[in-house]
Amino acid sequence: MAIYRYFYKPDLFLTIIANPKWPEILHSLFPGQTATDCLDIVSWVFEQKKKALLKLIDNGFFGTTIAHIHTIEFQKRGLPHIHLLIFLYSQDRIRDPHYINSMISAQLPSPQLQPLLYAKVTKYMIHGLCGADNPQAKCMVNGKCSKHFPKKYRERTDWAKDSYPLYARPDNGLVFECNGARFTNQYVVSYCSQLLLFFDCHFNVEISAGLGTVKYLSKYIYKGPDRATIEISGRMQDKIRLIWMVTLLVQQKLTGRSLNSIYMESHQQSNVFLSIFPINTMSTSMHTRLSMKC
Ligand SMILES: [Zn+2]
Repeated sequence: MAIYRYFYKPDLFLTIIANPKWPEILHSLFPGQTATDCLDIVSWVFEQKKKALLKLIDNGFFGTTIAHIHTIEFQKRGLPHIHLLIFLYSQDRIRDPHYINSMISAQLPSPQLQPLLYAKVTKYMIHGLCGADNPQAKCMVNGKCSKHFPKKYRERTDWAKDSYPLYARPDNGLVFECNGARFTNQYVVSYCSQLLLFFDCHFNVEISAGLGTVKYLSKYIYKGPDRATIEISGRMQDKIRLIWMVTLLVQQKLTGRSLNSIYMESHQQSNVFLSIFPINTMSTSMHTRLSMKC
């Protein structure tokens, strides 16, 4: 909470998941291998993408940045993903719905006018079918989607009180069909078209509109790594296979951590990284990176 007391509330919340089919990964594999066979390569490529993203943000993609916090997690199958909070200079804080519409969308693009963007949005930014259409979906808690999908149709973007903006999701007849399911604008996860096209992976961009979102965002940032106790029993072949799988996952996490070793010196107990920038010296070379125990 000391961070929020000092910087007020974060302005943007980004979630990016590694794409195992990035060309940089595929070009590094031997014939017959998949990304899950070489999780160290996945971690390495993801680290380079992360650096490119932070450079874009530091150079003012969303406005003058005064600080950002990020944490990197690894999914069960080994893919890394990053949660990133961005704090903007007060004069660059996002308040205007027209500006939001120019930067962030929660709609299906036209497949005729924007075929490439349509392909990326339908590939990465569609929330799985849930609600009454699929009550068994993983996101369902007590009969409701924990992510609040499907969203209501809205003709325009508005501010919700002390929460996220309510993005425009017009009922314009656009439908994406996949495996017999039909997805409208109600199922689109908010995205920035430039960043989605550039990074070619799941890339969720949310605007944090009020202090009420701090608790929710902090839960993502500070929830810490998963822990598990494993008892190995059964046939020797099964034991060897299990040990191999665990070794792969641990190896990938260690690779991810070692790539961040410059930050890890004062973060032995945490994967959370905080960067702070002096407002009047915004050139990259003059950024002051301060470590902070979290
Ligand atoms: Zn859902």
